[in-house]
Amino acid sequence: MTRKPFQSPACARCAKAIGKTCCEPGPHEHLAMVTRADIARISAHTRLSARRFTEEEAVSEAGAVDFEARWPLYRDYFRRGPVRITLLARDGACVFLDRARGCTLPLDVRPIACRLYPFDKWADGSWSLAIGRFGDLQAAREEGSACLAVEEAGSMEEVLAAFGTTHEAVEALGAQLAEEVRNHGRG
Ligand code: SF4
Ligand code: SF4
Repeated sequence: MTRKPFQSPACARCAKAIGKTCCEPGPHEHLAMVTRADIARISAHTRLSARRFTEEEAVSEAGAVDFEARWPLYRDYFRRGPVRITLLARDGACVFLDRARGCTLPLDVRPIACRLYPFDKWADGSWSLAIGRFGDLQAAREEGSACLAVEEAGSMEEVLAAFGTTHEAVEALGAQLAEEVRNHGRG
């Protein structure tokens, strides 16, 4: 398995540079959504039951429909019911985060949503970044949900390079997520 605690060099500097990382949700924020396939991989690796690292959030029927319409990789996630499963946060951080060393899960065990971030697929099928760029570290810090790798890159190609990935690899990961989401919805 690949052990790479930080997905990009910027991840190791993120908390210091802009206040917090994407593994540290703010008040009323949730961590990455997970599928049953993500949970199975993590449980097999850690021997933890799902309740030790996930939480469930009920959403409205309308909210579920709207979410799936906006995020094509998550189509059918709510087919069995409007409940979102996310990683569990404790003391303001994901239970798998070691603030000094990064994510304690090997890269190929992490939820696919974590591996994909900050790349996302939009309703029109195009790929872009899930997070805007502020172009100013102070503004990024004040906003509270910025990504240092995005702030330090000048283009999509540079963000891909910062994560050591390619358009094709991101597409393939997105296709895997979409399939696992469909299976999640089928139960
Ligand atoms: S917000 Fe961006 S730079 Fe910071 S830890 Fe997450 S992916 Fe890395
Ligand atoms: S599983 Fe790892 S990458 Fe994902 S939120 Fe938790 S610490 Fe961050």
